[in-house]
Amino acid sequence: MKERSDSLTLKGLIAAQGRLPTNHHMQSSLSAKQASIEAGIGGEERVAEVLRSYTFPLKHHIFHDLSLASDSTFQIDHLIQTPIFGVILETKNISGSLEFKDHPPQLIQTKDDGQKNSYESPVTQLERNTEQLSLWLTARNIQLPLFGAVVLAYPKQIVAVPPADTTILFPNMIPPFINGLPQGDRKLKPDAFRWLASELVNRHRPYIPKPICESYQIPFGDFQPGVRCTTCGKLGMIKHKRTWHCPACKINDSTAHVKELQEWFLIFKRSITNRECREFLQVEDKYTANRILQSMDFRSEGTFKDRKYFMDLRKSLQPGDIKPRIHS
Ligand SMILES: [Zn+2]
Repeated sequence: MKERSDSLTLKGLIAAQGRLPTNHHMQSSLSAKQASIEAGIGGEERVAEVLRSYTFPLKHHIFHDLSLASDSTFQIDHLIQTPIFGVILETKNISGSLEFKDHPPQLIQTKDDGQKNSYESPVTQLERNTEQLSLWLTARNIQLPLFGAVVLAYPKQIVAVPPADTTILFPNMIPPFINGLPQGDRKLKPDAFRWLASELVNRHRPYIPKPICESYQIPFGDFQPGVRCTTCGKLGMIKHKRTWHCPACKINDSTAHVKELQEWFLIFKRSITNRECREFLQVEDKYTANRILQSMDFRSEGTFKDRKYFMDLRKSLQPGDIKPRIHS
């Protein structure tokens, strides 16, 4: 029912690294974060692949990367909805030897070289998600027992000490785990089953990260402004009438500013003014900047001189985000 959407966090990190000088002191933190997000996505893809290739005996819907709001917002890596129960899977891919501690909950990783790191326990995340989804369902008068498991996406992960009360699975163990769950005699009626699936999709709200400058405390001035050429990759396209021109490779691109403005909102802040737009895109004329901003379908606030524009980053995720992939 729902595939994972592009990660705006990942897009922001990549965009920020491309605009900071290569020797900037924050480059290594940004690229480490990028690597960890990419590894996480890789793990989720692996689990999604197992779920796609398996033929479940029960009628079901599968949702990947679902963000919902109950008491607070919560994000579920994978949800399998059947008429009899729901299954929440929390995916982790942390290499090395893993020790799940219960009091207090913590995940301790010991790498091959002996280095130790501690993480928030995925058991806590799973418990929280189960509780929040349960509240979300109750608010909609739906009674559906929920089960959950933590999935270690890569077999090279070694569980030295498992958690006391939570199931830990490798991806290939997911189908037998689901098939072995107790099937009570209560069952959602076909109408309720379908309604719940569309309600889950409709209530999904993609996660919008804070701008990089805010999250990492990097001054605006550290970033290079300008419009990047998608053909040769160089910053510094020049605004001509109705198009952008790259002095390096001589190509023209009339929509070159579109992806750059999205970068603005991911890197700098949630709003942009005419002046900020001129400085960022390196355009001198305020009427040109005004035409560009007006063409972008941005929401605006304020009067002419101090008008601010806002981009709905959620909209940029819509195409391809929700595909009618129904496994039933
Ligand atoms: Zn070029």
